[in-house]
Amino acid sequence: MLSNLAARDVETLVHPYTNLAAFRETGPLVLERGDGVWVYDTEGRPYLEGMAGLWCTALGYSNAELVAAATEQLGRLPFSHLFSGRSHDPAIALAEALKEVMPVPTSKVFFTSSGSEANDTQVKLTWYLNNALGRPRKKKIIARERGYHGVTVATASMTGLPANHADWDLPLPGFLHTACPHHYRFAEPGETEEAFSSRLADELEALILREDPETVAAFVAEPVMGAGGAITPPSGYFAKIQAVLDRYDVRFIADEVICGFGRLGTWFGSEALGMRPDTISFAKAVTSGYVPLGGVSIDEPLYEAMLDESRKLGTFGHGTTYSGHPVACAVALKTLEIYRRDRIVEGVAAKAPQFQARLARLREHPLVGEARGIGLIGGVEIVADKASKAQFEPKAGVAARCVAFAQAEGLIVRFLVGDRVAVCPPLVIRPDEIDALFDRLERALDRTA
Ligand code: PLP
Repeated sequence: MLSNLAARDVETLVHPYTNLAAFRETGPLVLERGDGVWVYDTEGRPYLEGMAGLWCTALGYSNAELVAAATEQLGRLPFSHLFSGRSHDPAIALAEALKEVMPVPTSKVFFTSSGSEANDTQVKLTWYLNNALGRPRKKKIIARERGYHGVTVATASMTGLPANHADWDLPLPGFLHTACPHHYRFAEPGETEEAFSSRLADELEALILREDPETVAAFVAEPVMGAGGAITPPSGYFAKIQAVLDRYDVRFIADEVICGFGRLGTWFGSEALGMRPDTISFAKAVTSGYVPLGGVSIDEPLYEAMLDESRKLGTFGHGTTYSGHPVACAVALKTLEIYRRDRIVEGVAAKAPQFQARLARLREHPLVGEARGIGLIGGVEIVADKASKAQFEPKAGVAARCVAFAQAEGLIVRFLVGDRVAVCPPLVIRPDEIDALFDRLERALDRTA
């Protein structure tokens, strides 16, 4: 029996990333408020938010300083735009603050309102750059199977997950996928992580050569794959991939939408994994998820090309009404100030060993084939048989059941396709709360078994 609110929801809303048929029976979990790492439903039941919302509420749910920053900006200048030479203080100050922390040579920052828009902007800028440089054939984008980059036509094309392509008539031509770097699932028997990484780099090189290097413009990767299964790269992976990209002058776009701003215990995931991207996309934790904001870094060579194009075309023809929204920028500025002042990133590095030890302990569970992670992100791979790594029938929905049991235990974690469960709590989670999270997840796994 659905509550009144839940029944009204079922009658009126289409939910993103939801099995709409099953949802008609179950209805939604309707949340009402949050405090620290806890959220509460309309009946007042508490849940430990083990997913930081959608990998974003880094500072938890009741940060009064973020609320005050938003309120103050709403009262002062609730809207202004950056079109046609207009500007405002929060956007300028935020761009300056970001330039200080971004791990890539950054000349300028371009703001969007989401991760999808950030990555869509990356695709367009890559094409724009190569047109400006007089190499109009160099346009193809290589992403990875199981990578997640968003839902616009271009970013869903980059995404390497079946639900983003089936019946959407995607990917578009010119968007290619190379292998997923998941050692547990895709390594040959006995293949070391280094050997697996070399093989994947060779496969990427073969793909570029097959397509013709003169047509391949960019490679996009998340440091740790999020929605594709919380997959950590095997050792040596990014160094070997980088060498291939350098050889064929392929631009490297790091999608830091989840890993940016401390998740891996460094400001950006690229730093934790020794990546050398040309540009990064960010969103989510830049505002701790309180208001929508995303963006991309613009390196000097790209900016020079953009200047030339503007001279030629008369305008830089890209941007949305909310690019650099003042309220979003004010909240992001305060968020960055808190990350610095409260040493949030260092705090993640300090808490990571406990988090990762509790995650690793899950490997002893009969249902868990692999438990992997870095910093405060982790993925649990549920298997039917540990020795053979055989999976359950997708229809059995085993990981989805585990997530439902977790919810019954007062824990929110996320089911991902391939019977994976993701864990990605707010960065401000306390050590006792990390224990509470994994105690609840262990009980949920026991109930699933
Ligand atoms: N890139 C990554 C790595 C993501 O995890 C997401 C969303 O989860 C996106 C891009 C898309 O961001 P948004 O949902 O804000 O459009």
